[in-house]
Amino acid sequence: MQDIFDNKIICKNCNSEMQKVKFLKNGFSFRAVHCLKCNNKVIHPEDKQEYQRYLNLRNKNFGVKLRLVGNSYTVSIPREIVNFINEQNKVIDEIVKLNFEGMRKLSLIFNNN
Ligand SMILES: [Zn+2]
Repeated sequence: MQDIFDNKIICKNCNSEMQKVKFLKNGFSFRAVHCLKCNNKVIHPEDKQEYQRYLNLRNKNFGVKLRLVGNSYTVSIPREIVNFINEQNKVIDEIVKLNFEGMRKLSLIFNNN
């Protein structure tokens, strides 16, 4: 399917052609077009939507159960989180880093290399 950014995009303020740019925000890569004349910026609508999905997921609290399996405890990571990371990073490694951050906090670090 053709991407809207494959087309010439004209700035609505000053009628000049906008330049394609990429920028990072909170580890997120955004596609945008930028007008050099008046500094107008338009973010790719798909990237905007994905970022909103990320913010929604990030603000959600999941209640997951701790289960004893052999000598370890396991928790289930909700599928929507793993799917989202997969879509963003393309591939998810089977090995994740686990960090005992504090008495009441564990963190998992997903890497794609
Ligand atoms: Zn402009």
